[in-house]
Amino acid sequence: MELLKEMSISGHENVLFCNDGNTGLKAIIAIHSTKLGPSLGGTRMWHYSNEQEAINDVLRLSRGMTYKSALANLPLGGGKAVIIGNSRKHKSKEFFHAFGNFINRLNGSYISAEDVGITTQDIKWMSQKTKYVTGKPIEDGGGGDPSPITAYGVYIGMKAAAKEQYGNDSLYGKTILVQGCGHVGSYLIEYLLKEGAKVKVTDIFQDKAETLIKKHTEITLVDPNRIYSEAMDIYAPCALGGTINSESIPLLKCNIIAGAANNQLLNEEVHGELLRKKGILYAPDYLINSGGIINCYSELGTYNKKDVMKKTEEIFLTANQVFKTSIKENMPTYLAANNLAESRFLNK
Ligand code: NAD
Repeated sequence: MELLKEMSISGHENVLFCNDGNTGLKAIIAIHSTKLGPSLGGTRMWHYSNEQEAINDVLRLSRGMTYKSALANLPLGGGKAVIIGNSRKHKSKEFFHAFGNFINRLNGSYISAEDVGITTQDIKWMSQKTKYVTGKPIEDGGGGDPSPITAYGVYIGMKAAAKEQYGNDSLYGKTILVQGCGHVGSYLIEYLLKEGAKVKVTDIFQDKAETLIKKHTEITLVDPNRIYSEAMDIYAPCALGGTINSESIPLLKCNIIAGAANNQLLNEEVHGELLRKKGILYAPDYLINSGGIINCYSELGTYNKKDVMKKTEEIFLTANQVFKTSIKENMPTYLAANNLAESRFLNK
């Protein structure tokens, strides 16, 4: 792939490749758009099998952030960073200090936060070198881990989808499969159980799923390799992207897909349309997982949890608007969401 050509197709403004010889840090920061404001998006640490995979991920994720912030009506652009490495092994204070120094080079046009593989401790280390970081621990004056708010927004978005698909927003008695027992997945489960849903979980790391099952004995464990054909009403992808594809769609028997994972559709056009034809209501990830960015945005001013929760609840109305447009215009939900987002940032 020619990177500059790819950037001009997707509309990316800037991509920074970072290499620190002392700590072994290898990272990429991508800024998709700063039209509505500075780009804000988390840093992901993942053991990518090759560099191209990391480039593809950071380009897609940063573009998604532009759409997410626009749909949430935030004065922010879209950016994202990926660190190539194993988050269970390759971490140190110096490693994140080096990354903080790279963020500084962008002079505030990129602001970071947590994503997969990054904790509030890592953010704290970054913040010792750069002010362009959010999601700092609460004891350091930050908004803390944004995941609980993301989970709340996903829950609200799922209820909006239930209202559209079932006629009311109750999740009582619905069988919901949560893929990924990480930060967001584990908080989402709490909301679902509280509402009386029947919850199934899966994770590639058995220990993570088992910790949750010990805490909530009523949930069922599903083999991560056999989840798509599992009986369920709602599929909640809360792991990595690309799980909705030509292999999984024919197996899925659910009525709704609503989860936190970024970039769930492997190919927007192909798989968004396939879901529509199959009658599965897809709540686009960037439409319903904006709770975390709303939390991070609040941290840039004077953090107020009550306002954050209230703003996160607006996801219900926006999702409702997107679902109605998709039906009225006979278009997949991702396209209705994209059109709404683009009407807010494209001509700025
Ligand atoms: P996390 O790393 O805490 O959890 C992800 C979990 O998914 C891990 O337990 C991992 O083992 C598991 N997993 C990975 N691949 C899997 C697979 N194929 N099958 C089953 N489980 C698998 O990450 P998180 O913060 O909970 O984020 C989850 C998703 O939500 C990510 O895609 C992230 O980008 C997205 N997201 C997170 C936030 C947030 O506030 N944390 C905000 C918006 C979007």
